[in-house]
Amino acid sequence: MSKGHNEHFKRKDMNYARFLNAVSAARRESPIRALTDRLATLPPSVISLAGGVPNPDTFPLKSASVNLSDGTKIDIGSTLMKRALQYSATAGVPELITWLKDLQKKLHNPPTMTYSPDKGKMELCVTSGSQEGLSKVFEMLVSPGDNVLLDAPTYSGTIAALKPLGCNLIGVPTDQHGIVPQALKDILSKWSPEDSGKPEKKNPKLLYTIPNGGNPTGASLSTERKIEIYQLAQQYDLIIIEDDPYYFLQFNKEFAPSFLSMDIDGRVIRADSMSKILSSGLRIGYVTGPKPLIDRVILHMQVSTMHTSAFSQILILELLSKWGVEGFMEHIEGVKKFYQTQRDALLASAEKWLTGLAEWHSPSAGMFLWIRIKDVPDTHKMIMQKAISKEILLVPGSAFNLNSADSSSYVRASFSLSSPEQMDEGFKRLASLIVEETKA
Ligand code: PMP
Repeated sequence: MSKGHNEHFKRKDMNYARFLNAVSAARRESPIRALTDRLATLPPSVISLAGGVPNPDTFPLKSASVNLSDGTKIDIGSTLMKRALQYSATAGVPELITWLKDLQKKLHNPPTMTYSPDKGKMELCVTSGSQEGLSKVFEMLVSPGDNVLLDAPTYSGTIAALKPLGCNLIGVPTDQHGIVPQALKDILSKWSPEDSGKPEKKNPKLLYTIPNGGNPTGASLSTERKIEIYQLAQQYDLIIIEDDPYYFLQFNKEFAPSFLSMDIDGRVIRADSMSKILSSGLRIGYVTGPKPLIDRVILHMQVSTMHTSAFSQILILELLSKWGVEGFMEHIEGVKKFYQTQRDALLASAEKWLTGLAEWHSPSAGMFLWIRIKDVPDTHKMIMQKAISKEILLVPGSAFNLNSADSSSYVRASFSLSSPEQMDEGFKRLASLIVEETKA
C-alpha cells in the first residue's frame, strides 16, 4: 500500500471559501434531508413521526439472494431489504462510508494526521459513479471565465461536464507519463503566485488530472512528477482534482502513491470508482477530500439525487463486508491480471499488424491503448466514415481534444471487452484501413 511523501512539502493553509463559486456558496441545507441524515444514525428505539418517507411494508420486493461468480452468495434478508429500498443518508450508507474511509486510510494514508474514519479533516461521500462526484465538484468550483487546467487530451466526459460552465480549458501537454511538469510550470508562469487570491487576475484555481491509465492516453504519472505537480499546486494555490477510476488496474506493480497520499494541505479532491472493478451499472463511486468542500458536494446531492441508490450501496456493502479488505484486494488482483493479459494480447496484435503504420506506448494501467497513425493527420473521417464499413470501431483522438474542431492523428483502442482473437482481427482491419487511407 502506498506511503505519503510529506517530506517534500511544507504545509500551507487553505482558504476554501475562495474556491467556491456563487452557486455553491449559496447552497443551504435542506431541513428534511438533514433530518433523514440524522435518522440514519439513530438507534431503532427512536420513534420517528418526522420523515415524509413511504412505508417499505407496501413495497413489493421483500428479499434478495445474489449468486457470486465464486459459487457463494449474498443474502439480503427482509430487514436489510427494507433499508435498501428506503430513502437513505445523503452522503451514503453509513457503514459503507466507514468501510471506504478505512480503505482510503489503508491505501492512501492521507497525511492530514487528524484523519480518522469518523472525525477529522477528510470527508468522503458516495456518488452515483465517479462521474456524478466529478460533475458536482466542477459545478461547485468553476465560475464562467475561470481558467481550468487539465490533461490534454483528456476524458471526453470531463470536457463535456466542464464546457457548459463557461470556463476556459487550458490543456497541459502530456506524454506517455502524463502531465509534463515543466509544461505546467511554463503555463503557470503567466500568472504570479501572489495574485492567486485576486479574482480579477484569473489565476487558475483547478488542475484536473487522471493519474493512472489515463483515458484516452493510457499514461500514468510517476511519483516524481506527482511531487513536482503538487509543489506547483502549493505555489499557485491550486486544488487538484484527482480522477482515478483506473487506480486498481495498475499492472505488475505496487499501487503508485496518489495525490491524496501527498496532500498535506487538504487541496486534493479524489474521485474513485467501483465501475471498473465491481460493477459499472450499480453506479457506485466516491469522492474524498477536505471536509469543507465535500460537505458542499453533499448539499448539492441533497437537492439532486438525494443519495446514491441505497440498494446498490447495500449490495456493494454486503459484498465488501463478506470479503473484507483482503478479499477485496484478492478480487482486484484477478481483475488486474485479466486486463494485463488483455493488454499484452492487444500489444502483440499491434506489433503484428500496425508496425510501420502507427506508434504507441505500452500502458502500465487502465484499459486503453493510444495509437498515433503515422500518415493520417486527422483520424476523424477515417474512423467515423470508413471504419464502420470494415466492421471495426475505435474512437478518433479528436473526441478527447479540448477543442473538438482540432484534428488528431490518434485513435483510442480499448482492450476491455473483445477477445484476443477479435482484437487481432480488429487490428488487421485497422491496418488495411490505414493502408487504403494513406494511398488515397
Ligand atoms: N473518469 C474517467 C477518466 C473515466 O474514464 C470514467 C468512465 N469512463 C469516469 C470518470 C466515470 O466513471 P463512473 O462514473 O462509472 O465511475
